Amino acid sequence: MTETPPASNPDVRRRMQATRRVDTRAELSLRRELHQRGLRFRKDYVVRGVSRSRLDIAFTRHKVAVFVDGCFWHSCPDHSSIPKVNTEWWTLKLETNRVRDLRHNSELESAGWTVVRVWEHEDARAVAGVLHGLLSNR
Ligand SMILES: [Zn+2]
Repeated sequence: MTETPPASNPDVRRRMQATRRVDTRAELSLRRELHQRGLRFRKDYVVRGVSRSRLDIAFTRHKVAVFVDGCFWHSCPDHSSIPKVNTEWWTLKLETNRVRDLRHNSELESAGWTVVRVWEHEDARAVAGVLHGLLSNR
């Protein structure tokens, strides 16, 4: 994969920046909700032997891996779109991301992890509730 081309116009640049900012905000809200429920976790957790996977949130005792996927970078079915300039590059880039996500999922699952992927647009409180339930039943 070649380097990211410079944002071709102000619109694309804004979206790329906004996407990163929202990513962070989505992770922060989810972490806050998890803390409020008294759940302990590691963030940006690297699993040894699993390619270069970095877990956004990891419940290491239960081996539950949580990724908060950005709608743009991970092609959310509701909000994905391909920029109109450099379309070919972006199509390949986003497809590569998708394949990499699937590979990480299967590598983690082979290593005994349960993988949970949530979209950045999902309600953090609801997601935290689901995770709480999942962890309580293990
Ligand atoms: Zn979305």
